[in-house]
Amino acid sequence: MDKIRVENLYFYYGDKLALSDISIEIKSQRITAVIGPSGCGKSTFVRCLNRMNDTIPGTRMEGRVLLDGQDIYGPGTDVVDLRRRVGMVFQRPNPFPQSIFDNVAFGPRVLGLYGNKHELAHIVEESLRGAALWDEVKDDLQRDALSLSLGQQQRLCIARVIAVKPEVILMDEPCSALDPIATLKIEELMHTLKANYTIVIVTHNMQQAARVSDWTGLFWLGELVEFGPTQEIFTRPKHKLTEEYITGRAG
Ligand code: ADP
Repeated sequence: MDKIRVENLYFYYGDKLALSDISIEIKSQRITAVIGPSGCGKSTFVRCLNRMNDTIPGTRMEGRVLLDGQDIYGPGTDVVDLRRRVGMVFQRPNPFPQSIFDNVAFGPRVLGLYGNKHELAHIVEESLRGAALWDEVKDDLQRDALSLSLGQQQRLCIARVIAVKPEVILMDEPCSALDPIATLKIEELMHTLKANYTIVIVTHNMQQAARVSDWTGLFWLGELVEFGPTQEIFTRPKHKLTEEYITGRAG
């Protein structure tokens, strides 16, 4: 089933066309990898999926982005609720300079997603468990989040997203600041998360795309060159450019 359907998406920064005629279906409870060389529009694309680009002045978008069949750019869209449903994890972990507990509780507090303190504590625990961090932090939830390792901070950011009960999680190069062991933990976590969430990951690391994703799209100069099941993209690509890119002869 399609969780997100993008139809003929164009995106401009001023006069500069950054995305051209992108149409793609993001499958529910699957991991979709977005790959391609630097500057080809990967970040711009995922940021269109929860209207993160809205905040950049001078930008313009054409086309449709349907979440469960509803156009998120249509009138009447509650953008705050959209960003709750479609959460985002960034390249560099960005916890708030607060305790672990307060980081995870932030969204539920702002959105009023709980009835009492006990319920909030439960959400925090469940979110930290869901992000495979609970066992490492349960003895001191008041610890400063910034004292965690970078890998733990990134899992904390994932817990913060999970805490507001999203449906889709966008991950923009979530491992690029992490060492190989921390990266592996995030990749393992993604496998677990896909049982409950639809995940879109931007990565310039093709091995990572091959390891974690079910579907892969190759972007090139703002266009979607090829999109299909990851195994096919990496073993039997249809386009010459895809083959050249995945074998390291292009890009
Ligand atoms: P990628 O994620 O593949 O590296 P981006 O989506 O970041 O690519 O960028 C796509 C193109 O849009 C690039 O040419 C980049 O320079 C341009 N771009 C990205 N962000 C902005 C911005 N805020 N203002 C102007 N141009 C931008």
